[in-house]
Amino acid sequence: RVKEQGKNSFQFYDPSMNESVSKKMQIEIGLRKALERNEFKVVYQPQVEVHSGRLIGTEALLRWTNPGCGTVSPAEFIPIAEETGLILPIGEWVLHQACLQNKAWQNAGHPPMRVAVNISSRQFRQSNLVEKVRETLLRTELEPHYLELELTESIIQDSQHAIEKMHQLREMGIHLSIDDFGTGYSSLSYLKTFPINTLKIDQAFTRNIYTDPKDASLVDTIINMAHNLGLKVIAEGVETLEQLEFLQKKECHEAQGYYFSRPVSPEDLEIYLEQQAVEAVM
Ligand code: C2E
Ligand code: MG
Ligand code: MG
Ligand code: MG
Repeated sequence: RVKEQGKNSFQFYDPSMNESVSKKMQIEIGLRKALERNEFKVVYQPQVEVHSGRLIGTEALLRWTNPGCGTVSPAEFIPIAEETGLILPIGEWVLHQACLQNKAWQNAGHPPMRVAVNISSRQFRQSNLVEKVRETLLRTELEPHYLELELTESIIQDSQHAIEKMHQLREMGIHLSIDDFGTGYSSLSYLKTFPINTLKIDQAFTRNIYTDPKDASLVDTIINMAHNLGLKVIAEGVETLEQLEFLQKKECHEAQGYYFSRPVSPEDLEIYLEQQAVEAVM
């Protein structure tokens, strides 16, 4: 079947394309109502200090279940939220939840820790981002140094604005990290000019450090570079003891992955916190 598009342009009808288009539209329609229908929740994944095994923070990760679409992975719905601009209200909601939750753990008497929140590039480009973050911290009463924002290398394209914003956030006391480090095809020179605290080594590198000497060498290089630049470094996607031992040997500061815990509900993270407290006095 051929559909007429314009005067001389024809497009072939491809049922598989049509299917993915309508799935995408279904997600978009669902996303528009998801906040008001309370379909989102935030789960938290522990971040651990490599040399001590101590919990030092969590990463907030968004989850979405919709009656029509079922449970949709953020890898699928976040790009659609970005494209449509829905990421702005959704991202604001995640930030608020994460700060509120982190403060609630502190109020319950747990040792204060950081919460890391993913900020998409569209969110970061918002002109009032800094004010929104400031307001959220005030409303939730979370101290700025217990908040980390995870940015991706893509924000570096808009460098002048990005640097200015990053300085304002750093001056407030907020931590900044580069997520999925090494996958963004950007020049390394930004590490000199951007005021960041932490590099997050992408799980694509961590996955094979024990089996692929090239990945081992890349991870080793990133850790050394972080040390030399005075940056903190955290490895994502740590699933095995072998991977953790490699990171210990290379003096990687922090790690995150299924080996320690999957992302869990706030209630389950509380159990993790209580276990830590018990281990600390033993
Ligand atoms: P990310 O920020 O790089 O998050 C890490 C992803 O790796 C998470 O997937 C996490 O569940 C997964 N992960 C953690 N440890 C392991 C492990 O040991 N093995 C494996 N195989 N995976 C592990 P998730 O939650 O599906 O999120 C995927 C991506 O979606 C995130 O990647 C982030 O880019 C985006 N995302 C999630 N929540 C948000 C949000 O609130 N805002 C924005 N802008 N993006 C978000
Ligand atoms: Mg992240
Ligand atoms: Mg990542
Ligand atoms: Mg990722």
